[in-house]
Amino acid sequence: MKVSVVKETAPGERRVALVPEAVGKLRAAGLEVLVESGAGERAWLTDDGYAEAGATIVSRSDALGADVVLMIGKPDEAAVGALRAGQALIGMLTPLTDPDLVARLAAAGVTAISMDMIPRTLPRAQPMDALSSQANIAGYKAAIIGAAEFGRFFPLLITAAGTARPARVLVLGTGVAGLQAIGTAKRLGAVVSAYDVRPETKTEAESVGATFIELTSVGPASGEGGYARALTDEERAAQQQELAEHISRHDVVITTAQVPGRRPPLLVTEDALKAMSPGSVIVDMGASALGGNVAGSEPGQTVLTEHGITIIGAGALPATMPTAASAMYARNISALLLNLVKDGELALDPDDELHAGVVVTRDGAVVHPALAPPTAAPETAETEPSEADHAGAPEPDAGSAEGTER
Ligand code: NAD
Repeated sequence: MKVSVVKETAPGERRVALVPEAVGKLRAAGLEVLVESGAGERAWLTDDGYAEAGATIVSRSDALGADVVLMIGKPDEAAVGALRAGQALIGMLTPLTDPDLVARLAAAGVTAISMDMIPRTLPRAQPMDALSSQANIAGYKAAIIGAAEFGRFFPLLITAAGTARPARVLVLGTGVAGLQAIGTAKRLGAVVSAYDVRPETKTEAESVGATFIELTSVGPASGEGGYARALTDEERAAQQQELAEHISRHDVVITTAQVPGRRPPLLVTEDALKAMSPGSVIVDMGASALGGNVAGSEPGQTVLTEHGITIIGAGALPATMPTAASAMYARNISALLLNLVKDGELALDPDDELHAGVVVTRDGAVVHPALAPPTAAPETAETEPSEADHAGAPEPDAGSAEGTER
């Protein structure tokens, strides 16, 4: 069976789905590995490196013709058009927020397997958990970016030229990315506080060095599968108001809050921004085309408010550390692929919880329960209730095709 890696085409994307180290593992399992020429160059991985590991360097069209095509993100228009019935595609396809892509892949007879649908609480799926590996990288980079942009030191410094007090950093959302941001800011010497709407994260945040903030106006909001649930309008308003006081006492704020299948919740309002001291920095990891965790943040841009607050729209940080991110992703996707392969061929078992979790389309139909009933035709994937099955109804302004990364 031929497995290929294609070059990513999304703007700013520098990662690649396999690194040379992973090629050897796949070959040892009897798979032939094709790599599109230049696929790894933006992560400093050369064609020669892949060839030495046993891959064959091929053109884009040959790579897109393999039995299984591996990607980081979603295929572009041309790639979708090139895929044929019987092929499999594995990548972070964000099927919950891109039902059109799902419907097209189903109609083309492509087996779509989504890395961002891996059941994360399944112990044997943990080596495949690309959401966690990439969130870890993003959390680390967010703290580094915050420190780089901040006009003062993170650590306490006592020098002959004076004493610098440590930066006060606040991390909002203490999932995988938030915990890594806390740990990184702490290692840089900052005094770190953190808040999450799921109270069970308190001990985790404390264990990596943060003081956990508990709000009195909002109760616990733990949802299904270890994620947060969306807040009601009243809860959201109360949370924003109470958070504003805490935000104003911090120099650097890193926001990571997400609710699966929805636009990121707004945590830092215009009023909260106005109460911050000039020179403060916010890194908004939730920044997306539909808005992020911070009022006025723009994805991929740095905005300076009239009150002197720098807001960095940092929704796509893993691509800025392409070598580390590709190495981790390659381990995730190889582990999944090797689990799906038996005797050198794809062997998908709908009764296997892991397989059922990741396979989105198969045999011309949308088969994932979160998107459509198992027997439904592909076009039913476009209906909104399918998204609601997984994560509750989208917010009225959430749109359908974009939003959070899953
Ligand atoms: P995420 O990216 O979905 O969200 C980030 C954080 O934002 C979460 O902690 C969430 O509670 C928080 N959040 C959402 N709305 C908020 C709001 N209005 N205010 C404040 N915070 C808000 O989360 P994630 O990093 O993908 O992880 C989600 C959960 O999955 C965590 O409990 C994590 O430990 C768990 N997880 C478990 C495993 C495993 O069991 N192996 C693996 C990965 C993740």
